[in-house]
Parts: sequence; structure tokens; C-alpha cells
Amino acid sequence: MKLNITTLRNDFPALHRQVYGKPLVYLDSAATAQKPQAVIDAIDEMNAGINGNVHRAVHYLAIQATERYEQARETIRRFINAQKTQEIIFTAGTTAAINLVAFSFGERFVKKGDEIVITEAEHHSNIVPWQLLCERKEAKLKVLPVDDSGRLQIERLPELLTERTRIVAVTQASNVLGIVYPIREIIQIAHSKGEMQYITSIGCPYGCRFCAVSMPFQPRPMQRIDNELSQLHEATGFTEVSFADPNIAHFAYTAESGKNIRFDAVTRMRALGAVMRKLDASWECNMRCPDLTPDMVDAMAHGKCTHMELGCESGSERVLRDIVRKGHGVEAIRQAVKSVKGSGISTMYSFLAFMPGETMQDIIETMDLIDWIVDADPLARVSIYQFTPYPGTPLYQDAVSGKHGYPPFSPPKTMMEWGRMRLMASPIYWIAGLNFRLDNSRKNFPGDDWRLIEPYIKQAQIQWRNREILDFPVEEVEQLISAQLAKRQKNRCV
Ligand code: SF4
Repeated sequence: MKLNITTLRNDFPALHRQVYGKPLVYLDSAATAQKPQAVIDAIDEMNAGINGNVHRAVHYLAIQATERYEQARETIRRFINAQKTQEIIFTAGTTAAINLVAFSFGERFVKKGDEIVITEAEHHSNIVPWQLLCERKEAKLKVLPVDDSGRLQIERLPELLTERTRIVAVTQASNVLGIVYPIREIIQIAHSKGEMQYITSIGCPYGCRFCAVSMPFQPRPMQRIDNELSQLHEATGFTEVSFADPNIAHFAYTAESGKNIRFDAVTRMRALGAVMRKLDASWECNMRCPDLTPDMVDAMAHGKCTHMELGCESGSERVLRDIVRKGHGVEAIRQAVKSVKGSGISTMYSFLAFMPGETMQDIIETMDLIDWIVDADPLARVSIYQFTPYPGTPLYQDAVSGKHGYPPFSPPKTMMEWGRMRLMASPIYWIAGLNFRLDNSRKNFPGDDWRLIEPYIKQAQIQWRNREILDFPVEEVEQLISAQLAKRQKNRCV
């Protein structure tokens, strides 16, 4: 619909005035808007005959005033397409509205060390309330910059968001620069960080030889988990939880009293699932293969689990038993695959290769098992990392002492050197990754860009088939993928 400026101006009595001998042109609407005749009439009518205490009295005028207020709320709800009238809150102006949020939500949920994100393009009314709140709470104010052309650098927003972010306060149209910002995208980025990390237990009783987790297992009571997650949900509105326990399905532990306690792991999983359904949040976790009985998988899927990591480590019975001492065998991995298949839970089956004492034949057995897994469940995701000897584990000692013919290994001396020993910087990781995670590559290299990665994928497929895993152009692939991700990120933000 085309706006007729003359008709619009006619609605505003203030614009009928002459100022300095010219028709009034008023540009300060963001601070104080002029009122159209319909609003002036409604206020006059209210003051002249309907004035009453809204929602606080039962006399005739109060009831009429309350009805008018609620009618106005409904009109605005429809106009801005809000779901409920309760979402419409009248305030004296934007500054008062922002202060209301700062003094209500902010006072209750922003704590010492939390973070609030604003942008460089904000009006004072969207800066000062947050500065003062941060001062009151010893929280941190982070500012998303604009570039020289006034473009908000929203590609930098993800790096400003952390698990301590409590509020992202952003204008849709900057009064400083007059630019309309992509608020929908900003909301999506902020909500995509709506993932919460939480642990339902500490420690692990298993003691696999490559793992540094050695604390005694202690689960949190389910009532406490329910209370804490409910409070966190109220504060942050998270939509996903990543349960960071090494394994959330252990079922036996020794209490502080020394008493040995056992509980039914499936029952506990159902209770956790009920909490997550109540909060309408999905979740992911780490599991052990032997715990994944069909009943356990049912309980997890019903409770909104969408993803899990399964540390399988090897497809060689000998390596699992003698080297890793993982506490399960190859058959447990196969049974887990059969239980998970078709449940809707996306599962990452992860393996290690090149551990001290592991032979090429062992690694080939792992590759054979991976092929079996992907055949059994085409939706399975698999990864295989080159073993990296990290301190604090028995396998690290084996590596340093060169046990079982492990190639001479001198531990790095600086953090930078440790950083270079990334698990992913190995041919076998990339050969398996490009071979088995085509969905990732398709997403990252759409359209013509596919030609960039396709030769490497073909090479990885051939090498996996031929079990040639010692050599691959790792650096070329890493650079290509980094450049592609940077390009996609830039395009997304233009
Ligand atoms: S690898 Fe998993 S099961 Fe084994 S000790 Fe570590 S946390 Fe426990």
C-alpha cells in the first residue's frame, strides 16, 4: 500500500502548525512522537469520562477503563503479531521499558561475572541501563562493533556470546546511523547459543587406560537436577542441554556414608527425560556401549535425546581388552548399534588409532568394524582420531617409555607445541571424515564450490577402500575448509 503523506500529515494536529514561517517538519519522533488526532481523542475521552483505576477496582468507571486497556492490548497484539496479550506491556517510553527489563529480569538473573551484549550503534537508553546493571552486579558489558560503513559486524557476534551471556540488547534501527539491522539473524545467532552445559554426575568408575577421568563416580539426586535445570531454564530459556558427564548411565556408586548404592539406570534416564520434556529442551550426552540396551535407548529417545557420543575406541578385541581396557568388547559395540538404529538419536561412534602396541592389522579391524556400523545403520556418524599421548593416563606412560615399540615420543614443552598435536591433524581423521560425513561437505561446499572438495573426497574414498591411511594432503584440506567456512560466514553477514 502506498502511503499518502498529505493524508498522514492531516492526522497530526501538530503538523498543521507553521514554525519560523514554514510548515512544521518534525524528526524527533524516536524521543517524543507527535500524537495523531485519534490518540488525542481517545486520551480526552478517557480523561473526560472513563478515568478509573485499571484492574484495581470494581466500580463502573474502573471496569470500563480496564476494558479499554485490554482492548488496546488486543489491538496491539494483532498489529505486531504477538501470541498473547500478556506479551504487551505498556510503559512510558523506550527508556522506561528498558529500565523495567534491567530492574526486573536483570536484578533477578544477572549475577557476578555474567555478560550483557550490546552494539556500538545503540541509543543511550539502550546503553546506560546495562552499564548501571553491570556496575550493580559486577557483570561485564560487551560491545559488538560496527565497521567504517556503519555495518554491524554480526559475524563477530558468535565470539561475544558465551555461557555467561544473559542478555543481548540490540536496536533494530539505529538512531545513530539510521541503518536497519538484520534483527532476525541476530536473534537466530543469539538463540543458537541457547545450549546449556550441565552435569548430572561427576567422576567415572571405569578407568580406561587412555582416559584421565579417575574421580569416584557421584551422581546428583534427580530432584536437584530437576530444580537446577528448571531454574536455569527460567533464567536463560535454553533449548538444548549438553550433558557433559563422561557417562550419564552409571548405576552404582559409594555414598559419602560408605554405603554402596545401586539404582536402575533406565528408571533414572526416564526421570531425566521427564525433566527435559517438561522444559521442552532436547539434549545430548556421552554413553558407554554396554549401557545401550533397547530399553535405555527407548528411554533416551522418549526423553528428547537427539545426539550421543559413543567412545568405541577400537574394533580389535585384543586392543580393547589389553591396551585400552575399555571394559567392553566388539560385540557390545555391535549390540549398541543395533539398539540405537532407527531410534532417531544421531550417534557419533568414535575410535582411536595408532595407540602403543596397536598393529596395522588392529587398525584394519577397526576400519572393518566402521564399515559394518555404517552398513548396519546408514545414519550412523563415525570418526577415527590418531591417538595423541596426553599426560595423566597410563597410555601416555606407554608412549613416553616407547612400550610395545611406540615410536620415540618426547612430550612437547610449550602449550603451542601441544596445540599442534591436534587429534584432527592426521591423515586417518580426514580420510574417514571426508569418506563418511558427506552431509557436512555438501553443506559447506554448495553449488559450484563442490568442485573444490570433490577430488579430495574421491581420494579419501579410494584410500579408505584400499586401507591406505598413512598419507593424505591434510594441510591442503584444512586450508580449503577454513577458507570455505570464512567465505560462507562472510556471505551470510552481507
Ligand atoms: S573413557 Fe569414559 S568410561 Fe572410560 S574412564 Fe573415561 S570416562 Fe570412564
